[in-house]
Amino acid sequence: PDGFLSVRDLQVTFSTEDGPVKAVDGLSFDLHRGKTLGIVGESGSGKSVTNLTILGLHDPLFTTVDGEILLDGKELITATEKEMEKLRGNRAAMIFQDPLTALSPFYTVGRQIAEPYMKHRGVSKKAAWERAVEMLAKVGIPNPKERARDYPHQFSGGMRQRAMIAMALVCDPDLLIADEPTTALDVTVQAQILDLLKDLQQEFGSAIVFITHDLGVIADMADDIMVMYAGRAVERGTVDEVLRSPQHPYTWGLLNSMPRLDSDLSTPLSPIPGAPPSLLTPPPGCRFHPRCTFRERVGGTRCVTERPLLAPDRASACHLTAEQKRTIFVEEIRPR
Ligand code: SF4
Ligand code: MG
Repeated sequence: PDGFLSVRDLQVTFSTEDGPVKAVDGLSFDLHRGKTLGIVGESGSGKSVTNLTILGLHDPLFTTVDGEILLDGKELITATEKEMEKLRGNRAAMIFQDPLTALSPFYTVGRQIAEPYMKHRGVSKKAAWERAVEMLAKVGIPNPKERARDYPHQFSGGMRQRAMIAMALVCDPDLLIADEPTTALDVTVQAQILDLLKDLQQEFGSAIVFITHDLGVIADMADDIMVMYAGRAVERGTVDEVLRSPQHPYTWGLLNSMPRLDSDLSTPLSPIPGAPPSLLTPPPGCRFHPRCTFRERVGGTRCVTERPLLAPDRASACHLTAEQKRTIFVEEIRPR
């Protein structure tokens, strides 16, 4: 495999009463140790499903998973539930948007951080408690010795988020998946948490998958970006490549709907008209075609009939020629 985490042709299908829903349709990417991959897309793009699947948190009864997920050479799709349980919280951990989904109201914060450490490292209660206090200090909780004895409701939102990060990192995971971890927080706290994550990555060397709909956060956090639309990757590259010279009409739309630092905030944003398609009956060809204003430039009916593929390296899954992508971006999109 090319990365520490290698995903190849991942397909995730849910069975629903109305029929099969392919939430992820042929996704491939690599992530290296100590690096951050930002996955961006609207809700329903498959970004969260992808990451729940990596950690084996999908419902096995109603979900079919095909393809390959290799973590440090180990295949996760065929791993047993017991093996996945060993992996979760130990070598791989997840932080969520809402810490209350991860923290129990019935136990002290310290106990909830200490528990995975005891379970996976087999250390004494006392040693695990000391580790929990140390982790609370690392994530910037004042008076960690006393605060470890508090319950989650005694913490502010930002502090709960820090406590969840402490819990996720207590076993020094190689892979950390962060799903919109700061969306619910105010801007100042958000910036603090992002800085904290970057510092902890330096210290622990974890590979991070960072899921968000916010390109500004991605620019700040990620090394590479993958843009997802309707269960597929539509564009992939380094942060610089994708943000400076994006090549896919959907990415152009995302960039245009972002407030710019240099513009006055009253400038109306131009969100992409229309909504993502139902994955029960996805549009044929390019899934973005019902919303795409550039498809006449491709000519013929290719956008409607032929699935555009993502080449292995820097690429966008779009039938426009490389020259068209470049000139449209430079002459029509960027000046907006
Ligand atoms: Fe638009 Fe066609 Fe490119 Fe899809 S393949 S993004 S419809 S131009
Ligand atoms: Mg989500």
